[in-house]
Amino acid sequence: MSRTLDQLLDRNVVWADNKRRADPDFFRRMAEQQSPHYLWIGCSDSRVTANDVLGLDPGEVFVHRNIANVVHTSDLNILSVLEFAVEALKVEHVIVCGHYGCGGVRRAISGERGAIVDHWLQPLSMLYRKHAAVFGAMENEQKRLDRMCEINIGMQVRRLAATPIIENAWARGRKLHLHGWIYAIHDGLLRDLGPHLSSIEERDALPSIDQYVIDGPTDAQSAAMRQAVAVFAAMPVCEDGGGPACCGGHGAVDEAAGAAAVREKVRVKAR
Ligand SMILES: [Zn+2]
Repeated sequence: MSRTLDQLLDRNVVWADNKRRADPDFFRRMAEQQSPHYLWIGCSDSRVTANDVLGLDPGEVFVHRNIANVVHTSDLNILSVLEFAVEALKVEHVIVCGHYGCGGVRRAISGERGAIVDHWLQPLSMLYRKHAAVFGAMENEQKRLDRMCEINIGMQVRRLAATPIIENAWARGRKLHLHGWIYAIHDGLLRDLGPHLSSIEERDALPSIDQYVIDGPTDAQSAAMRQAVAVFAAMPVCEDGGGPACCGGHGAVDEAAGAAAVREKVRVKAR
C-alpha cells in the first residue's frame, strides 16, 4: 500500500479515536440507525462537502452528489436516493446546493463537446444556448458563469419538484420542503437562492426556468444577512425617512419601508 493511503488509514484511526473520546456512544448510535432530516443534492466538487459546510455529524444528512448537481429524471441513482430519503428515512428537507465556480457548469457553457460529461450536462448547455442573448449581454465570462451557476439551481429544484416521488409525497400530505442554495467557496458561506417549494400548488405557481433566466438575478441571502435584516427590521423607523436606528427612532411609522431600506444597505452581491 502506498504511503499516501497509509496516511489516510492513520488519519481515520485518529478521527475515530477523537470521536469516541468526545462522545463514547457515538458509534453505537451510528450503528443502530441513521435518522437524517435532510437530503443534500450537491456537486461532486471536492471542496463542497455537505457535512462540513453544514457543520453536521455523520448520520445527520443523507447525501447525493454528481457533477454540477444535476437532477436527471431518468437517473436511477438519484431517483433511488430520493425515494429512500423520502419514503424510508422520511427526510423533511431536500436541499439542492450548487456552488459558484462550478467546473461542470463552466463546461456546459463552454460549447465543448465529445465527452460523456457533455451528455450529462446537456440540459444546462441547451438552456444556455436558448438564452444566448441574455447571457451575451452580460459584461464578462465570470458574470455568465456565476449567473449560470445560480440558474442551474433553480432548474434542478424545478426538475426535482416534477418527479413523481416528490409529487406523490406532497399529494399524501407529507411535510416536505425543497430548497435551492448556493455555496461560495471563497468565503465558505451558503446562500439561500430559492425557490422554496412545499406543495404541488407552489410548484405549479413557480415561473418557468426560461422566465427565471429572463427575469435576472434574485437576492441570494446568507444566514448572516438574513439575521441582520431581521434585527434592523425590528427596530423603530425614523419619520424623516432615515430608516431604522438613524437617530434613535421617532416611532415606527413605516416598518416595511424601513426594512426595505436596510435590506438595500446590507444587500451584498453573492460574488
Ligand atoms: Zn461543481
